[in-house]
Amino acid sequence: MSLKLFNTLGRSKEELKPLKFPAVGIYTCGPTVYNYQHIGNYRTYIFEDILKRTLRFLGFAPFQVMNITDVGHLASQGDEGEDKVEAMAQKEGRSAWDLAKFYADAFLNDCASLNILPPDVLCRATAHIQEQIDLILRLEKKGFLYHTSDGMYFETAKFPAYDQLMGKSHLMGIQFGARISANPEKKSPSDFAVWKFSPKESRRQMEWDSPWGKGFPGWHIECSAMAMKYLGESFDIHCGGVDHIPIHHSNEIAQSEGATGKPFARYWLHGEFLLVNSSKMAKSGGTFITLEDLKKNGFDPLDYRYHCLTAHYRKQLDFTWEALESSKTARRKLKELALDAAQDSRKPACASSIEAFGAAVEDDLNMPEALSVLWSDLKNTDLPKGARASLAETADRVLGLDMFEEEDKALSPEIAELLREREAARKNRDFKQSDRIRDRLSSLGVLVEDTSSGQKWRRK
Ligand code: AMP
Ligand code: ZN
Repeated sequence: MSLKLFNTLGRSKEELKPLKFPAVGIYTCGPTVYNYQHIGNYRTYIFEDILKRTLRFLGFAPFQVMNITDVGHLASQGDEGEDKVEAMAQKEGRSAWDLAKFYADAFLNDCASLNILPPDVLCRATAHIQEQIDLILRLEKKGFLYHTSDGMYFETAKFPAYDQLMGKSHLMGIQFGARISANPEKKSPSDFAVWKFSPKESRRQMEWDSPWGKGFPGWHIECSAMAMKYLGESFDIHCGGVDHIPIHHSNEIAQSEGATGKPFARYWLHGEFLLVNSSKMAKSGGTFITLEDLKKNGFDPLDYRYHCLTAHYRKQLDFTWEALESSKTARRKLKELALDAAQDSRKPACASSIEAFGAAVEDDLNMPEALSVLWSDLKNTDLPKGARASLAETADRVLGLDMFEEEDKALSPEIAELLREREAARKNRDFKQSDRIRDRLSSLGVLVEDTSSGQKWRRK
């Protein structure tokens, strides 16, 4: 067993050697809960779920911490603009606390329907204000901070290894204009806020007293404080999307290592973007597709999960509905092959198939290769059915595609409602209505059959 992972720190594949084998501490940056997450965000969470399942598969004991950002994420990366949660709460006419809870719950529901395993610790920034203040105090004592009229800032020039994750040229880009600061009091454009003061002219819903004045934590400090609280000052793996490399994760390293003098995370893994029309899918770009949109169009969330596995997590993936349709068909077919093989109850494992699958997984989570091993062996009629079923069972522990479930568990609310209406129509002997609903369901990709034990449905 030797799991090789591409470490952004050092930019090469390295064998994972956890600090306290078999335990592997993992921190994954979670959602900012001011809106639904889009399927681009879910691409990153699916990659992190594959990592966790792979670790279990290989005999490690992962312990995952994920944050929920419910305060402090401002509209601009340069620590200016409105707080995303407070601004949306105002727009939607509800409290920031309600809004954050609503979108955090929606996120967890989506994750469950994508078969993303829940983290061991899910922690909200607003529930860890004291931990963040304590960390800022440590940084202040060590002389890393300076005061401006709108907050306390980390002086990146005082942390010489600030460019270790992003590389020197990227940092130069930030220093020389890529991230022009609107705040003239910042000593450098790469400096960032650890504590922001509440505005004088208005009252925030989320604000706390601190040694520096009433206000709220900067976005980055929450991840440092909570990661160290639950995983220790040094831990194994930190993940997120590639957009976090130059700002959020570089800032997390600077704050954490500045305070402790110890290495923070040892392996940094970053998932590439889901693109739409060749640009990053983003909430601001008007190209934002949710899981609910997929369901409305007749897709099961697991079709999307399968789709994500067709590309390596470090390669960009351009989203199109046609490509998703192909993944939907492929997943159905794969499931049919697995279910057919499972008819043989004897399951002699085929060592060479499982070894080939394992080798793909151990090579930096190479899911396209792992899928291709699975496909060719499930189609290989020279292999006994039992051996094929055994491979599918083993593979599904990593892939999480519910390959042996006869029916998809996640129905869109619309399809579930139509099925209920049709059942009611049949009970009332309103066959015209029941046929109309059957046609509607058919147009949504669901076939209904009437049997002696009631209506049964399956995907086309
Ligand atoms: P956010 O809610 O914006 O903080 O993002 C949550 C996670 O999704 C982070 O790890 C981001 O890096 C990641 N992410 C954002 N946009 C995309 C995208 N288009 N494709 C893949 N991951 C993304
Ligand atoms: Zn983070």
